[in-house]
Amino acid sequence: MTPTMSIPLSFRAAGATDLGTVRTNNEDAALMSASLVAIADGMGGHAAGEVAAAVVVGHLTTLAAGDGAITADALRHALERARGELRALSAADQSMAGMGTTLVALALTPDGVVLAHVGDSRLYRLRDGGLEQLTTDHTHVQRLVDAGRLDPDAVREHPFRSVILRSLDDTSDDLPDVERTEAIAAGDRLLLCSDGLSDYVPNDKIHGELAHGTPQEAADRLVRLALDEATRDNVTVVVVDAEMLDADDAGGGSGSGSGSARVLGATLDPAELSAPAHEVLAGLLRQAAAEPDDAAEPEDPASGPGDSASESDDAAEPGDPPEETSAVPQERDALPQHRDDSPPNRIAPAQGSTGAARRSGLWLGLVVLTFFLTTGIVWLTHA
Ligand code: MG
Repeated sequence: MTPTMSIPLSFRAAGATDLGTVRTNNEDAALMSASLVAIADGMGGHAAGEVAAAVVVGHLTTLAAGDGAITADALRHALERARGELRALSAADQSMAGMGTTLVALALTPDGVVLAHVGDSRLYRLRDGGLEQLTTDHTHVQRLVDAGRLDPDAVREHPFRSVILRSLDDTSDDLPDVERTEAIAAGDRLLLCSDGLSDYVPNDKIHGELAHGTPQEAADRLVRLALDEATRDNVTVVVVDAEMLDADDAGGGSGSGSGSARVLGATLDPAELSAPAHEVLAGLLRQAAAEPDDAAEPEDPASGPGDSASESDDAAEPGDPPEETSAVPQERDALPQHRDDSPPNRIAPAQGSTGAARRSGLWLGLVVLTFFLTTGIVWLTHA
């Protein structure tokens, strides 16, 4: 088989996020850069969902800001490190047990476009006027659709549409699927989104707003559309134009992590962490500073602080806020102090561990209930 010659691409990406009509905190996080774009939708009690999304996007931001080429292996390693950090934080603070996040990410590597995906955050492609969903949700309702037991048109109304079967979290060994994809080429417009958009806005409306204007204009309109549909969830979108890499800019696009990276949404705010979790995070940052990312060029310790998303000498100072792995807050003024009035974001796949045990009982109950409901619906449909 002849290997496909990959055409160098660059991403022109813009994003937007909003709390939605009900929530008081944002558990979505997004990354936009010329070679790596991502959305993570966190889950977990108290601040945990926000922390999980920020941790994962923080690691991807470091990868995007590095000087070395982004590869599928580097992406996997970044996600493994993020998972390790979620486990460490969760072990240090029981209130964070069960924390996790979805992820949809696209990376430009020397070997082509690589897609990373877990959960129900989605990737759509607009090509030749047609909109196509390129990811398949890891959800209970998607499983019912695949089995022919649920009409795809009924998914949006299903009471358990938010039950996801896989995530990047503190308890499972699961990692997002990381695979090279041939489905993306120059001229495509891509949409990454959290379920705050896709659960509330039908595809034909998404199509209509995605199809024109700049990526930023389209992103702003899509978030507005979700708010007009009264989305109860956080809503986050990243719109990307895949473009041929300019020959003059060959060092800044496909296969290179250089170029500015921008983030939106959830933040890792040390003030929100318990003392043990804060201590764990500070230790992880000291460790990261001592062992530079394998995707990044070794830094001269005598040089000044580098890119805001990169590891920094400052991070090794005890007591300093660990901003280096944080997503930059935007579109909200301050973190709320109490979140108990927020509706549950989603139900994570529960596995093992003391903290997740209670969720596992709840989840099992929901699955059983869903089974009976679905059986009833199918019976009524066929009666
Ligand atoms: Mg969501």
